[in-house]
Amino acid sequence: MSRIAVFPGSFDPVTKGHESIVHRALPLFDFIIVAIGSNSTKSYMFPLEKRKKWLEQIFASEPKIKVVDYSSLTVEFCRKHNARYILRGLRSVTDFEYESNIAQMNRMMEPTLETIFMLTLPEFSGIRSTIIREILRHGGDVSQFIPSGIELK
Ligand code: ADP
Repeated sequence: MSRIAVFPGSFDPVTKGHESIVHRALPLFDFIIVAIGSNSTKSYMFPLEKRKKWLEQIFASEPKIKVVDYSSLTVEFCRKHNARYILRGLRSVTDFEYESNIAQMNRMMEPTLETIFMLTLPEFSGIRSTIIREILRHGGDVSQFIPSGIELK
């Protein structure tokens, strides 16, 4: 059975931290689905089409990665795609507390599902999409936090 992992997130916008986690996780899995959550009650700075286009561009040369958007429960999405692993990045203790909760509840809903956590590389541990959005709102330059070749327009 192939090892399929789902890397769910908002990617609003995508960062070097996201890119790094997916690349580092590649040797562990046969296939990684980068799953862009689209929640009708949440408002995003960037439309889904843009978030999807950037991720497709970043991983274009990697046949083991596919970018898909979804609006269901993550466990439902995993079942649909025969994925037994959820991949998440951990930057801090705060991330751990939040993520461990979600992982425990996901496992209660789908006991065959394992959440795999990867520690962020130190150089990316301060990067978060929320702060990038804040910098952008004030007209700042975020290029050092964003994967190279990506234009946030
Ligand atoms: P969500 O809205 O689900 O938190 P994000 O797009 O913010 O979505 O994050 C998606 C995943 O990427 C999460 O597992 C998050 O911990 C991870 N992540 C976010 N920023 C970084 C970073 N700088 N380094 C490593 N992982 C990160």
